[in-house]
Amino acid sequence: MKQDSLEITTCFQQLAQPEDGLPKAASVARKAARVGGGRADAGTFGSCPLQHAAVKQNSGSLAMAAAAPSLKHWRTALERVEKFVSPLYFTDCNLRGSLFGDRCPVAALASFLTPERLSYEDAVQQDFSPAQVGHRFGPTWWTCWFRVELIIPESWVGQEVHLCWESDGEGLVWRDGEPVQGLTTEGEKNSYVLTSRLGEGDPRSLTLYVEVACNGLLGAGKGSMISPPDPEKMFQLSQAELAVFHRDIHKLLVDLELLLGIAKGLGKDSQRSFQALYTANQMVNVCDPTRPETFPVAQALASRFFGQRGGDSQHTLHAMGHCHIDTAWLWPFKETVRKCARSWVTALKLMEQNADFIFVCSQAQQLEWVKSHYPSLYAQLQAFACQGQFVPVGGTWVEMDGNLPSGEAMVRQFLQGQSFFLREFGKLCSEFWLPDTFGYSAQLPQIMRGCGITRFLTQKLSWNLVNSFPHHNFLWEGLDGSRVLVHFPPGDSYGMQGTVEEVLKTVNNNKDKGRANHSAFLFGFGDGGGGPTQTMLDRLRRLNNTDGLPRVQLSSPDQLFKALESDQGQLCTWVGELFLELHNGTYTTHAQIKKGNRECERILHDIELLSSLALARSAHFLYPVTQLQHLWRLLLLNQFHDVVTGSCIQLVAEDAMKHYEDIRSHGNTLLSAAAGALCAGEPGPEGLLVVNTLPWKRTEVLSLPKPGGAQSLALVTVPSMGYAPAPTPSSPQPLQPQQPVFVMQETDGSVTLDNGIIRVRLDPTGHLTSLVLVASGREAIAEGALGNQFVLFDDVPLYWDAWDVMDYHLETRKPVVGQAGTLSIGTEGGLRGSAWFLLQISPNSRLSQEVVLDIGCPYVRFHTEVHWHEAHKFLKVEFPARVRSTQATYEIQFGHLQRPTHSNTSWDWARFEVWTHRWMDLSEHGFGLALLNNCKYGASARGNILSLSLLRAPKAPDATADMGCHEFTYALMPHEGSFQDAGVIPAAYSLNFPLLALPVPGPAPATAWSAFSLSSPAVVLETVKQAEATTQNCTLVLRLYEAYGSHVDCWVYTSLPVQEAVLCDLLERRDPAGQLSSRFTPEGHLFSLPSEVSSACAPASIKLST
Ligand SMILES: [Zn+2]
Repeated sequence: MKQDSLEITTCFQQLAQPEDGLPKAASVARKAARVGGGRADAGTFGSCPLQHAAVKQNSGSLAMAAAAPSLKHWRTALERVEKFVSPLYFTDCNLRGSLFGDRCPVAALASFLTPERLSYEDAVQQDFSPAQVGHRFGPTWWTCWFRVELIIPESWVGQEVHLCWESDGEGLVWRDGEPVQGLTTEGEKNSYVLTSRLGEGDPRSLTLYVEVACNGLLGAGKGSMISPPDPEKMFQLSQAELAVFHRDIHKLLVDLELLLGIAKGLGKDSQRSFQALYTANQMVNVCDPTRPETFPVAQALASRFFGQRGGDSQHTLHAMGHCHIDTAWLWPFKETVRKCARSWVTALKLMEQNADFIFVCSQAQQLEWVKSHYPSLYAQLQAFACQGQFVPVGGTWVEMDGNLPSGEAMVRQFLQGQSFFLREFGKLCSEFWLPDTFGYSAQLPQIMRGCGITRFLTQKLSWNLVNSFPHHNFLWEGLDGSRVLVHFPPGDSYGMQGTVEEVLKTVNNNKDKGRANHSAFLFGFGDGGGGPTQTMLDRLRRLNNTDGLPRVQLSSPDQLFKALESDQGQLCTWVGELFLELHNGTYTTHAQIKKGNRECERILHDIELLSSLALARSAHFLYPVTQLQHLWRLLLLNQFHDVVTGSCIQLVAEDAMKHYEDIRSHGNTLLSAAAGALCAGEPGPEGLLVVNTLPWKRTEVLSLPKPGGAQSLALVTVPSMGYAPAPTPSSPQPLQPQQPVFVMQETDGSVTLDNGIIRVRLDPTGHLTSLVLVASGREAIAEGALGNQFVLFDDVPLYWDAWDVMDYHLETRKPVVGQAGTLSIGTEGGLRGSAWFLLQISPNSRLSQEVVLDIGCPYVRFHTEVHWHEAHKFLKVEFPARVRSTQATYEIQFGHLQRPTHSNTSWDWARFEVWTHRWMDLSEHGFGLALLNNCKYGASARGNILSLSLLRAPKAPDATADMGCHEFTYALMPHEGSFQDAGVIPAAYSLNFPLLALPVPGPAPATAWSAFSLSSPAVVLETVKQAEATTQNCTLVLRLYEAYGSHVDCWVYTSLPVQEAVLCDLLERRDPAGQLSSRFTPEGHLFSLPSEVSSACAPASIKLST
């Protein structure tokens, strides 16, 4: 035993760096002896590589024999080290217990409680009352401001001094009127560094303010995380004191925890694992927590271990600080503003302390909030962005949902986001960043590329319930063949903490071993956790290059993707959507939010079109640039991945509804103003203008206001993207080749509606028993089956209530049975015929529906009103079609895709509930049935049954979600030929973009007018808007896409005076080779679309100068 101690001493003599001249070797020897004496030779583990080296050097084989016997007990060694760093056990004598030294209470504490989220300037003016540790405050969503007066003891000169603060809620420290650090227990931020070394003459008295929000990192759920918030929750301050912090002990703790992680992570088959364990064990031997002079020896042992390098082939982890902040979720939007400040100021301090630390930050909206609420913090972020430490990523306004927003809205996410990043940070983002969204549209690759982005990072598909996605690195090919490089961090997380376990998971889990040797490692507490900590950085630095582990470098997205791009040739390609096999309930939950989204997308479309036309025709019209930007940003904000999806708390849903209301009310004002300007000066008979905002001519039945508030039906024809005067009794009626609608009720109570195009037959309970294409006599409803069948399902997911509908809900299908005799004729026929009925869905919920058929219309509409009061039920409507096909088609952004109607493979059956936009279609050769809707997104086609998801009733995180009254419309369109040739796409547009009857201040024009039309029905002119940041007053941007999935030649005709037409990208940057060939006609201007626009569902833009 004595011999052993001597050997160890020799070893340590080589390692110790006695800066202070202390006789280290001697003290270490004493320590080893002491420990060894008390703990059965624990100090004599002969496997220490250091010890071996020393032994060999000194005495050869004799000494080797002398180094034994060592105990080879894995578990006791491991647990011994664990106890040495434990925050729970043996803190009276272990290393963790000595992390903080002397302590003293704060000199004075006072508090002020408010339901408002006040500015610092307002808050400090308030009356503060004395408070103590133990102070309770609340309730939920209130804010408690603390004034903290400190006097640092003089004897602490030379020491690092912290304010140790522990309270419920999320805190922000203010010093000299500036935010300086976030405090949150859940994010391991319980102390604020007052000084890293108190100098002789430094001021020792200080007043700080701590602003504590009464909500946790994840809100205030009662009982479980996603339960609705507890409004009465109270919060408590449990610690507020000054303490001396021992940085050297902190470093040892980091080392020991990493060594433990390596020992456990590499396991007993690994030589390196044992080396880590015995190094740690030896460190415990030499380290006396009460004697700092013993620390350097322990540190040297660790440094020796971590300095043993790996080989050239090691995998490289690109560690980037991150803090995913949900823009609203289990807390309201306004709290997110403060979460951003708390998190980013904390990251900023780390950037100051660590010049190599890089923090990536997405979502322009959050930066915009911080800019307006915390200008000095924002200026510092901009400064760090110049140095490359603060890296804006993503390019979008918010991290939006990847399924539900329209194509145009997705483009606007990038347009608003990228222009913000360019203006504020001097460059466009080159990576799309959406780690936490519930699936990714097949249209995203094209949109990304059109917005200057070729790289994409996410990880959410690791949540798939059924299938494991086969790649972490791949090329993702969208609808038109555009490709982007995608990286999923293989650790399956965007909130790592720098542990060995995570590092090993990242490298072991990587599904592209041998193909890609670089991975992202995103570290930092998300949401209210305040992002990364110094400890995480210390860990990652230690793992820079250590044998047995991947190489870890603090890095940026650009460095990661550049490395991946250099090996891109090895990667596989994934074509089409990235479907998340979970959270399929988010296509339906919170139906009013979904309806607001669809409706407001339409309103903004219509305003932009009419304002553009007014701009082109009237020298006096001012395009409402600022108002439109404001309204668009509200819509984009609501498209955040926990808002439009309905997975938010009630407070957020209420805010979202207010945003929609703003868009509706301001939008209507803007529409009227544009309509007024558009027809100013054109004399006409009446102050009513009928407007068609779609790019094709329409003849439809429209309800027009009559004097006295009544409405009358009229059949009107309006040219494409143009207007027509409202018909009057004296104006000529449009040609009516169509048969008037014929309505008849049989004696059995059933009703037939027939407009010569389709014939609809409803049974006395409102079921659709027959739907016939009159010309061919072809029946669309499956033989013996009932269409318009409402069905209820039990809807109890495994956990994520608002998010998930599980596969097994299909096993609980219960058809809703109606009562005969409720079906009546509504409108008698002629221009319009209808029948309506009532249906009791359950004891608490009921439905009324009007089934409407218009003259000349190829589809029958179902106007539905539901009073919905359920718990964990799912309402759908089904249409069994007389169609056989293994694929159904669903509309997505700027295009469509197909999904199977069968469950052959696990990938097929995992898509039992899918999303669509305005239509879905089931077609066989020569015939098909399309199901259109005006505000729904959830759908499925199983076998021959088309099903539209109508309403859910989840209870968490919003117990009131979807309770109450709902109105929506769906429509059914049988057709010959393909959905493309049959006009399903324009029909679905028409259902969603009704003709507008707009009152205008003066007389309306006497003649119809069209601004734009196209030569090919395959191309849709989706958007007409003023160009962003245009120097000339009247430059318009036209967004078009080919909607059939084909290659076509197409000309655009416009009656506007065009000086120049050029191709541009989705950010409206001119394509240098994008001059469009054009020719003049007597009535206007024709220009041909380049192939980029007229092929394969690709969105593209052209710029018109008028
Ligand atoms: Zn999120």
